[in-house]
Amino acid sequence: MTIEDELHNATPAKLTVDRVTKVYRGKRQDVKALDDVSLTVGEGEFVCLLGPSGCGKSTLLNLIAGLEQPDAGTLTADGELIEGPGRQRGVMFQEHALFPWLDVTQNVLFGLNLKPNLSDEDRRGVARAFLEIVGLTPFANSGIHELSGGMKQRVALARALAPNPQVLCMDEPFAALDAMTREQLYDDLQKIQQQRRKTVVFVTHNVREAVCLGDRVLLFTPRPGRIRAEFRIDLPRPRNINDVAVAQLATTITTELKRLLKAENV
Ligand code: ADP
Ligand code: MG
Repeated sequence: MTIEDELHNATPAKLTVDRVTKVYRGKRQDVKALDDVSLTVGEGEFVCLLGPSGCGKSTLLNLIAGLEQPDAGTLTADGELIEGPGRQRGVMFQEHALFPWLDVTQNVLFGLNLKPNLSDEDRRGVARAFLEIVGLTPFANSGIHELSGGMKQRVALARALAPNPQVLCMDEPFAALDAMTREQLYDDLQKIQQQRRKTVVFVTHNVREAVCLGDRVLLFTPRPGRIRAEFRIDLPRPRNINDVAVAQLATTITTELKRLLKAENV
């Protein structure tokens, strides 16, 4: 396999979530984090899971990533049962979770350990290519502690992308960043998605962010976590978080979310 194959050949996967229920057992009481949730995410589709905290968004993301198992129901990627984590599904969290004892390049190389068919030289080539994509070439040999929050999330993105996954699972990846840094990352993420399309599941509680990035936005309500509404976002790309159309649609979605929460006495 050549670097070119490595960089361009992952077809995005179709995801299915079929009647999934997840209960966390507690000492005093059980929490039904997800109740009978079903959805399909198309190949290369960017779906945002939106809702207030505690409605099961992270739980669903972790199930898709294979980090947790459902109590009932099934999840599949390209028709194959998701039974554990795999390199076909990259993950990125709010906390960057980089290894502080490794430099920037070594962090990106880490994800490539899962690809035994690549030579060391090829791995380095792939890492270099992804650091370029996220704009961190000048920092390839920097230590993690030398980076700003935004740069750390860029490294985390490069690390998630480097093994060329079919699916990218992102859990509030930009929530801890300042607004300006976040806006730059929205631009970059849209650019990356245009160039090397992934199936993306993106968790957020930020309505505008969901409208800016998503092809589709799913609204969750809590106790128990369920999907209650869905919005297809057909606005032209690239989108800017400050676009009037983005703001207007975000207002519509916020109104609907508030209505649903009120109807459920949340
Ligand atoms: P969200 O990401 O939408 O904020 P979560 O999926 O993290 O929601 O949580 C959904 C519900 O499940 C919450 O009530 C939360 O307290 C509970 N929960 C999540 N993870 C665990 C866990 N590991 N153990 C017990 N309860 C949990
Ligand atoms: Mg969460």
